[in-house]
Amino acid sequence: MKTFDIPSFYRSGIITPIKEFRRKADKLKRDFKPTVLDFGSVRFLIARHFGFCYGVENAIEIAYRAISENEGKRIFLLSEMIHNPDVNRDLQQRGVQFIMDTKGNQIIPWAQLTPDDVVVVPAFGTTVEIQAQLSAIGIDAYQYDTTCPFVEKVWNRAAQIGEKNYSVIVHGKPMHEETRATFSHSQQGSPTVVVKNMEQAQRLATYITGESNAESFYKEFADQYSEGFDPARDLRRIGVVNQTTMLASDTQGIADYLKQVMIHQYQLAPNEVDDHFANTRDTLCYATNDNQDATYALLNHPADLAIVAGGYNSSNTSHLVELCESKLPTYFITSADKILDKSLIRHFDLHQKQEVTTENYLPEKVPATILLTCGASCPDAIVEGILTRILSFYDGARSVKEVLEDFK
Ligand code: SF4
Repeated sequence: MKTFDIPSFYRSGIITPIKEFRRKADKLKRDFKPTVLDFGSVRFLIARHFGFCYGVENAIEIAYRAISENEGKRIFLLSEMIHNPDVNRDLQQRGVQFIMDTKGNQIIPWAQLTPDDVVVVPAFGTTVEIQAQLSAIGIDAYQYDTTCPFVEKVWNRAAQIGEKNYSVIVHGKPMHEETRATFSHSQQGSPTVVVKNMEQAQRLATYITGESNAESFYKEFADQYSEGFDPARDLRRIGVVNQTTMLASDTQGIADYLKQVMIHQYQLAPNEVDDHFANTRDTLCYATNDNQDATYALLNHPADLAIVAGGYNSSNTSHLVELCESKLPTYFITSADKILDKSLIRHFDLHQKQEVTTENYLPEKVPATILLTCGASCPDAIVEGILTRILSFYDGARSVKEVLEDFK
């Protein structure tokens, strides 16, 4: 896979070499066993796959290039480039300004932009409407376009489905930048509706079967359907695409469920399914699949707690947290700063959607075993910071240098 030129402060002298060691030993990515770092009084089990993916490294390389190539010019990002607070903060400290927040609310009015400005498109991509807005101002939206190729692949898949006269069902978070972009591109070619979870897929099924009427569809799916969408007409032939970072099992469940609804509704024989349901594979990206599979493998090992690092608004990271918290106490943190001391940690609660503080998160027993992973937008340096912070609480632990000898 292509390598990218990203600032060295995102790399780690501990984590990056371990990843490289594992990659070289398993080029075909068949071994999902975690890496064990045994410090004696504490053991870390680190997921086989985590951290910066292709799309994130590509985006970081382009964004820093945009800064170095445009001294003296104003540089804007449409919104957060990736969902990681450290990366976004560093770009802002270098003078980059955000035009919108993550929900699409305008921070800087379009009227303040000029053709001399540079605008970086984030890894999630952007909508057709925003591309048109930028070109109306005279800004080339493709000069520093960091849209991940795996997101573009979803747009292409939606277009292919549309060409065959299927409507597109997007499984994604309706307000997420990537899903908004995919929705916008998909609706150029086909009627499109977003479903956020199985519950909404089940509600959508009642419009496929005719149990619910159009009027309630427009209320229930407000802001999630394309202009002119007619549930009586546009749900007879459907295909499913996904936001690239959904939970693989959820996405599979929704596609299988909707397929069965179509089979039942139209009494389809196996060779007739394609008449009503586009037979496509999911559009999750490789990093989502690798990171989730590596987390399942991590969870096969008994441990006292899990720490998952990443931005609290990161979709792929939150799914790793969901997997871990179904098995053991899990702490979702942005960085080592959230580890307040040996007995106090400040972490994000996905259910309350806010940070909470937990006491005595580390076990008293020795050795403690800690699972450690992070999302696709989290730098290795953050994971190193977490590991060394926890390690500092254990007197007599083996040194990092000693443990790293095992990876040479
Ligand atoms: S998580 Fe997947 S889709 Fe998103 S930037 Fe990374 S590779 Fe691209």
